[in-house]
Order: sequence, then C-alpha cells, then structure tokens
Amino acid sequence: MKKLNQITFISVFIIPLFSIQLTAQSISRKEIKIPDILGFKTLKCDFHTHTIFSDGDVWPTIRVSEAWKEGLDAIAITDHLEYRPHQGDLVKNFNRSYEIAKEYSKDFGIIVIKGIEITQAMPPGHFNLLFIKDANLLDTLDYNAAIKEGKKQGAFIQWNHPFWKNPVFPRVNSKVEWFKQQKELYENGLLDGIEIVNERDYYPDAFRWCKEKNLTILGNSDIHLPTGYFYDFSKDQHRTMTLVFAENKSEEAIKEALTAHRTVVFFSDTLIGSDRFLREIFNKSITINEAKLEKEKGKLFYIMITNNSDIPYSLIANGIDKDFEFSTDVYLPARSTARLGIKPKKDDFVGMRNLILPYKVKNLITEPFESLKMEISVGIEMK
Ligand code: ZN
Repeated sequence: MKKLNQITFISVFIIPLFSIQLTAQSISRKEIKIPDILGFKTLKCDFHTHTIFSDGDVWPTIRVSEAWKEGLDAIAITDHLEYRPHQGDLVKNFNRSYEIAKEYSKDFGIIVIKGIEITQAMPPGHFNLLFIKDANLLDTLDYNAAIKEGKKQGAFIQWNHPFWKNPVFPRVNSKVEWFKQQKELYENGLLDGIEIVNERDYYPDAFRWCKEKNLTILGNSDIHLPTGYFYDFSKDQHRTMTLVFAENKSEEAIKEALTAHRTVVFFSDTLIGSDRFLREIFNKSITINEAKLEKEKGKLFYIMITNNSDIPYSLIANGIDKDFEFSTDVYLPARSTARLGIKPKKDDFVGMRNLILPYKVKNLITEPFESLKMEISVGIEMK
C-alpha cells in the first residue's frame, strides 16, 4: 500500500523539461523632430539600403528595426540586380528581401518600398528603381530593358551617386559628366531624380543638374553594414536621408511627393533643398521669445531664440544696420535657446525702431554654393 502511494506521488509531479521561451526584448525609437510644413507631413526616408540578398551584411528584418529605432518613416530595399555574392547560400528571387522586410514591418509601422539597384559600370552607372511590382521581371543585363520594364511597373527612377569615389569639388580631371546615356534616359522620361548625397558625400554638380532639369533631389545612406557600425549614435549622428513632404504617411503619398519634387536632403548637420521648403522648416523650427524690447540707452541687450527642432542652425550676419551692432555668429543647437546681442552704435540713441537683422543660415543650402538668406525682425524702444 505504502509503495503504491509513493509511485502515485512521483507520477503527479512530473515537471515538463521543455517549454517555449517567449522573449519580449524591448527596443526604443529616437524621434527626429523636424516640423511638418505647407500642409504636408515631413517623412524621413532612406531610398537606398542593402541586405544579405546582395552585398549587404544584414538580414532584411534588421533594416526595418534599425529604421524604426533611428526615427525613420520609410525605407526602400534596393539590392543589386547584377551582384549577389551570397548566391550560393540564398535562392535567386529578387523580390525576397523586400518580402521578408515588408512582413516584419507590420509590427513597426515602417513603410517598406520595393526597389532594385541596377549596377552597371559608369556610364550609365547605378540606378535605383523604386515602387516596382516584380523585380524578377527586371533580371536582364541590358540596363535599358530593365529600366523600361521598371517604368512599365510604375517605377520612380533614381540615378545613384553620380560622382561615386570622386565627390570633392572642384573635381580635377573628373570623368563624370551628363553622359549621353543619361541624356537618352532623361529625354525618354526614364529618369526622375538623382542622389545628390550618397552616404556622406555631397555632389553640388548633381544638385545643379536637378535644378536645371527639374529632377527630384534625394539623399540616402546606401547602407551595407549594420547602421550602428557606420554611424555613431552616441554622438547624435544620423544616417543620410531624404525628407519627403507627403499628404499622408503612406507609400502612395511618398511616391506622389517624389514625383512632385517635394524633397529635401538631410545629411550630417546640413539640409539641402529649395528656398521655399528650407525657409518654411526654419521658420517653423524657431521662436523668438522677446520681439519687443524696452531698454535704457547705451546698454547692450539680448533677444532669446529657441530652436524647437532636431536640426542645429548656424547663422552668420549677412549685412549691417546703420544704428545697431548685433551678433555676427549665432549658433542655435537642436532643442536649445541661444542669445543674440544687440547694441546701439551711439549712446544717445532714443526712440522706437523696427530692426530687421539680416542673416544667412549656413547649413541650409538652397543653391549649389548658396545658403538660405533670412531676417530676424525685432521691435526696440530706447528711453
Ligand atoms: Zn547601392
């Protein structure tokens, strides 16, 4: 009897040795604060990324979680069409890296755009075909045929890094030009935009071409490594990206905005784009805390300027005032307040004045070699 009880006891308390370990590792997102402008949403996008399905070092899901962590809204997966170093380990399917990333993106709210990079020697060079439907139909060594098929599928066609490995200006003996291949594509409606910044290289000539030919400007990371290997996030670095002014956060709205040239390039501390967009971003980023001042004559006084955005602004005086001196250099760090000093040139100045202080914002580039001109207006009363 006693023995039987013992056996029963043992059988009841058998503990399962295997159980599924569900891990819920928490990751966080750094939001990038850049204002919405002109009734559009400002979306942060990277239209040039690689995965292990071409010569990138990461599985496609990593591109999605990186983008989410870094505060982006959209990425395009653009693996090389003609270059697949891991082909011995992976099936040949040019849609696959997108499919894996797209499925994973549902948990993050990141928009993933299907793309492919046509990879030819210069000329014609490299092109990203974005918003394509079936990348496998582009599998040909004839770049013209691939681009035409992409266009048939509704692609936005971007010429990548036209000055790759030769970004310094002015270029001595540069072999880069507006080639006859580019001319043909452009005239046949098969070129929609150019990467004027790739990785960390800015190409002023490419910016000029976009202005002359009414093409969309883009700036992308072209990341192959994990982004954290290339950018030092502990030093607040961010990847090169394209700001897209879209009617809403959707793939269709991004495509519409790209076609309508509503983009600005954001790399390092610099924004590059049209005067209209950069002026609006700047104006919506700053608030002047004290616009009407009453001061005793002869005294130096200050106005406070707050930068509410994540873009630091670097101002330099762009003129003088006949009655007042003012700070010639004003640095407005991200999410900070800076002081701008003003002083009458003559001690006996009295009365009211509306001061218009002319500045240039050095890191807002509106022309290949020109910065945004703006004014700070402040009312003054001297007693
Ligand atoms: Zn690339």
